[in-house]
Amino acid sequence: MLISLAPDAPESTRQRLLAAAIERGLKARVLADGQGGEVVGIGGTLGPDVARMPGVIRVQAVHKPYMLASLEARSPSTVMVGDVAIGNGPPVVMAGPCSIESRENLIEIAHAAKAAGARILRGGAFKPRTSPYSFQGLGEEGLTYLAAAREATGMPVVTEVMEVDQVDLVASYADMLQIGTRNMSNFSLLKRVGAAGRPVLLKRGFSATVDEWLMSAEYLMAHGTADVVLCERGIRTFDSTFRFNLDLNVIPGIKELTHLPIIVDPCHGTGRRSLVKPMSLAGIAAGADGLFLEVHPDPDNALSDGYQTITPAELAKIVLLSRAMLDALKECEDEQTTIPDVVHMPEVAVEEIFASIA
Ligand code: PEP
Ligand code: MN
Repeated sequence: MLISLAPDAPESTRQRLLAAAIERGLKARVLADGQGGEVVGIGGTLGPDVARMPGVIRVQAVHKPYMLASLEARSPSTVMVGDVAIGNGPPVVMAGPCSIESRENLIEIAHAAKAAGARILRGGAFKPRTSPYSFQGLGEEGLTYLAAAREATGMPVVTEVMEVDQVDLVASYADMLQIGTRNMSNFSLLKRVGAAGRPVLLKRGFSATVDEWLMSAEYLMAHGTADVVLCERGIRTFDSTFRFNLDLNVIPGIKELTHLPIIVDPCHGTGRRSLVKPMSLAGIAAGADGLFLEVHPDPDNALSDGYQTITPAELAKIVLLSRAMLDALKECEDEQTTIPDVVHMPEVAVEEIFASIA
């Protein structure tokens, strides 16, 4: 159940709620509600007298399997990564190489990505690879290069953590921890990462339903963090034409279910460099809070995922087009243009219709 507390609710109410949950052996978490108050999430039900406690403004029985991640819990969240805000604002671009290759290469990419408009640097040090014979990442050495690139550019960094016993190490270098698609349902990892004190980028499992994905977010939140950003990175369908199929339904759709921000990864989502620009724009048009892009100065010779990696110049183009597209959409919305009734004007030429809107 979710219990909403007014901004001026007495501390004693909060304490009584938490004590009552503990007494019944229930898990309880407190979140800011985004309106100055708080919401207490309890993994079970307390008695009806809860509604009469001073400062309690609402009690909701949540019928979804996830509770803290649900839209019932709070208004849309903004997640801070260093000084970069994700959600409720302009889309944030996170960009960098699939795998960290060397110190010089990473710093070069970081400067180029920043100049192109990226705000957060991505790069894998511990890499989940389909083949055991593929490059597995530089490990801790790669993390030190990430820290050096942050130092050189001022950009916060996000990197994947694959195992429970790597969490402290990765968290000591990274501003944001990434859970990859293959680990979305690794519940021991989610518990540990949720308690690591860093914001989390949670990629969707490539065969996961939206409910399963949000339950993984719930695991992170139930274990401590309020700062989760979802990342749609493509799913498997019956069609194997593309490496994966980017599911853009979820971008507007998930905003009806959760307060968590969502970003799009069109590189893994398509597996094809030529599709990254159009699908980035499509993701932004659908309302994504950001993009997650693989960038390398020489994609054909990148150590991993080169076929879906773009150049810094292509990144700059995507950023410029996204901004222009959002400005144009906003301008049209602000003008509150009246759309002519085309159904009852079949003989009117299309040019005339557009001329009348302009
Ligand atoms: C990545 O972002 O480099 C990555 C391995 O992604 P995913 O987990 O989506 O395959
Ligand atoms: Mn990759």
